[in-house]
Amino acid sequence: LLVGSLAACSQERDSGGGDAGGGETAAAEDTLVGIAMPTKSLERWNRDGTHLEELLQGAEYETTLQYADNKVDQQLTQIENMINQGADVLVIAPIDGTTLGPVLDQAAEQDITVIAYDRLINDSEHVDYYATFDNYEVGKMQGEFIAEQLDLEGGAGPFNLEPFAGSPDDNNAKFFFSGAWDVLKPYVDGGQLVVPSNKAPASNDDWQSIGIQGWGSDAAQSEMENRLNSFYGGGQQVDVILSPNDSLALGIAQALAGNGYAPGDEYPVLTGQDADLANVQNMMAGKQSMTVWKDTRTLGDQVATMVQQIVAGEEVEVNDEETYDNGVKVVPTYLLPPEVVTPDTVESALVESEFYTADDLGL
Ligand code: BGC
Repeated sequence: LLVGSLAACSQERDSGGGDAGGGETAAAEDTLVGIAMPTKSLERWNRDGTHLEELLQGAEYETTLQYADNKVDQQLTQIENMINQGADVLVIAPIDGTTLGPVLDQAAEQDITVIAYDRLINDSEHVDYYATFDNYEVGKMQGEFIAEQLDLEGGAGPFNLEPFAGSPDDNNAKFFFSGAWDVLKPYVDGGQLVVPSNKAPASNDDWQSIGIQGWGSDAAQSEMENRLNSFYGGGQQVDVILSPNDSLALGIAQALAGNGYAPGDEYPVLTGQDADLANVQNMMAGKQSMTVWKDTRTLGDQVATMVQQIVAGEEVEVNDEETYDNGVKVVPTYLLPPEVVTPDTVESALVESEFYTADDLGL
């Protein structure tokens, strides 16, 4: 391996990255893995980063873990620094999946292997692997949960629906929306679901029109408040809100509370994703109906396995080679299964697996 030691490689900035991707076998302790996470402001990324770093360090890898405060430029600089420090493998959860092309060109010159973590990196041929949860399935689970709760298949309705989508710059967001909309749109077209705000995208491809930039709770809250104030004047009730994730659901629940919606039979069906602590607490308090849980520990495990396979020069295990086209290539992907959690299954799913302790949840 080129990189004798970390000290040597940071002095010798030009010596370049390692050859972990070049087929030679390398020792873990000579391998630097750079981990670039989007932000500390969302609980899951903290868990993701810490868990992956612990796993890799436990296997004797050198690591550097950086969070970018959801700022694209900051993330670019962090990745450049990792390249300059002689990283052998980069694990990147991008903020904006389309902005990393030039920095990945630099990585490729240094023979660095790049793994896209949770979110795909678009428009670059230098993305070697992708590991994520089945993002389409996440949305499908949200849509199916709504259909089931409202007995849409049995012909019930009409119900007032307000749909939301994730950040327009996040490649996952379109998969979440498509999964949900493929289930729900037929009911919108058939009149069982009515969208008083008129914000129902005409097709899956129009999801960005209802995307919440940066996945912000506050932005979701004000959007929901606007819709309630503008379109629910005459005593109309909102029955169901499609929220793609927990950070949005948190803001939406705030808006509902502010508008006098109290937990109980009339409380709208509200979806989410991530099983963030505040949202699990909301679920137990009757303010959110479900979350799609992605056990991020399994994603860390899978990525650590990928790193090991890369460094050992072995074939990297993937299970999907057709879904994730980044505009330049179809990126070999390992997809993990998401899981629906409802108030009834919080304990069996989240506590028994030790994702949370009973104490965390006040159980
Ligand atoms: C992740 C979600 C997360 C969202 C906001 C998505 O790319 O897959 O788990 O809720 O970003 O951070």
